[in-house]
Amino acid sequence: MTPPAVPAALHPVVAAFLADRTAVHAALERFGSPLHLVFPQVFDDNLAKLTGVLDRARCRSRIYYAHKVNRSAAFVRSAARAGIGIDVASGAELRSALEAGFTPDRVEITGPKGSSLLRAAVAAGVTINVDNLWELARIAELADTRVPVLLRLSGFPGSAPSRFGIDLGEVEAAFDLLARHPDRLALLGVAFHLDTASTQERVRAVGECLTVIERAYACGFTPSVLDIGGGLRQVFVADPAAYDAYDQALRAGLLGHGPALHWGTGSFGYHVADGVAHGTPVFHKYANTDSATDILTELLDAPLPEHGGRALSAVLADNLLDLWLEPGKALADRAGITVARVEFVKRAGTGATLVHLDLSRDTVTAADQEVLIDPLVLSEPGESAPAGVFFAGHLCLERDLVTQRQVRVTRIPDPGDPVVFPNTGAYHMDLSAATAAMHPTPPKVAVLHRDSRFELCDDEVWR
Ligand SMILES: *Cc1c(COP(=O)(O)O)cnc(C)c1O
Repeated sequence: MTPPAVPAALHPVVAAFLADRTAVHAALERFGSPLHLVFPQVFDDNLAKLTGVLDRARCRSRIYYAHKVNRSAAFVRSAARAGIGIDVASGAELRSALEAGFTPDRVEITGPKGSSLLRAAVAAGVTINVDNLWELARIAELADTRVPVLLRLSGFPGSAPSRFGIDLGEVEAAFDLLARHPDRLALLGVAFHLDTASTQERVRAVGECLTVIERAYACGFTPSVLDIGGGLRQVFVADPAAYDAYDQALRAGLLGHGPALHWGTGSFGYHVADGVAHGTPVFHKYANTDSATDILTELLDAPLPEHGGRALSAVLADNLLDLWLEPGKALADRAGITVARVEFVKRAGTGATLVHLDLSRDTVTAADQEVLIDPLVLSEPGESAPAGVFFAGHLCLERDLVTQRQVRVTRIPDPGDPVVFPNTGAYHMDLSAATAAMHPTPPKVAVLHRDSRFELCDDEVWR
């Protein structure tokens, strides 16, 4: 049996590029393999869709693109040109934002920060999204003018414990610090970031934040911003039924009720006991069918119980609060792909077919996940003979299997065939990428669709 296919959702611009085999081969010949391709037009399209939702809700809002999702300079420049803000989380990201033309009032710095990063942030005059009380005190020491700060809060009832943010129980101590340094610290507002698909969880966090804002007013501060972070979801699969069919076949294999689709003793987070695969698989995010715009719409329309059931967007407008968002993956969704070439194909002792590629797993997979959308093999036209294969990486490590699951291919690829990893733009291509065994990280190239042609440009110099 060959495994069921799990086709990826492709943006029309990316689909058109992949359909133009001459363009794909030209990219590989000019820049080599493997290659990361980013599509700024898809980024723009994602941004326009989110902006559309915010405009319809009529609340004052500002989007800060979360830079950490991708190192791409083209994405940063697209965000700068669109007039939105940027959320940076390191000194290099801060420099990248300023070089792309962001003025300090459009830059927000989040994440854990040591003294040197705080010094750079204070010197640049950007807004600091404060993670903890040490940081707040340190900013007061470093500042010589008023530094705009947001208090990142955490410890919301019903949310998973977080290593980030100021616990709700520490808010009074933060207010004390702010009150002691009115000439150095300006409380712009409060913030949170929850990596969840649950609207209910975000609504609860918003409710807690509004209470903190009321307390801040009672203490004489005048915060005007509620920053709800990122976490809006991507849609990876073209057809949710295909995902379900694959998941079912995979579980049947794990239970010994069907052919094994998994490699070795891997179980993808499933725990097999009593003839059942229990638990949540590591690839569960690929099952999502709610788009970022759906999730944002639902959130803005959600009734707030402590505010007479009025919609969240209306409560913010009533209270003259600005809504800030920090989307990362929602803006990079379907805006990046990675292309590699087949080096050779071999049969393992287990009988499995291994298609060896010229890249490693960490180049297309973030951390300990397993990608549950299929790579696309761009073979020359020929006879169809479907098969299940594992894609293997070029590192001399057992764990460097690019897919630890069998993938359906229409026939066994030949050396040199391009293999496309769809939707790698958000975290997949950059977050875990290493230079193990002295392999360089792949070059990154921006692709522009213009006059029904595709123009390629080194990502670093794209304008
Ligand atoms: C990572 C991160 C984001 C972006 O998250 P996405 O899930 O990619 O939207 C936003 N804000 C903060 C503080 C983050 O750490």
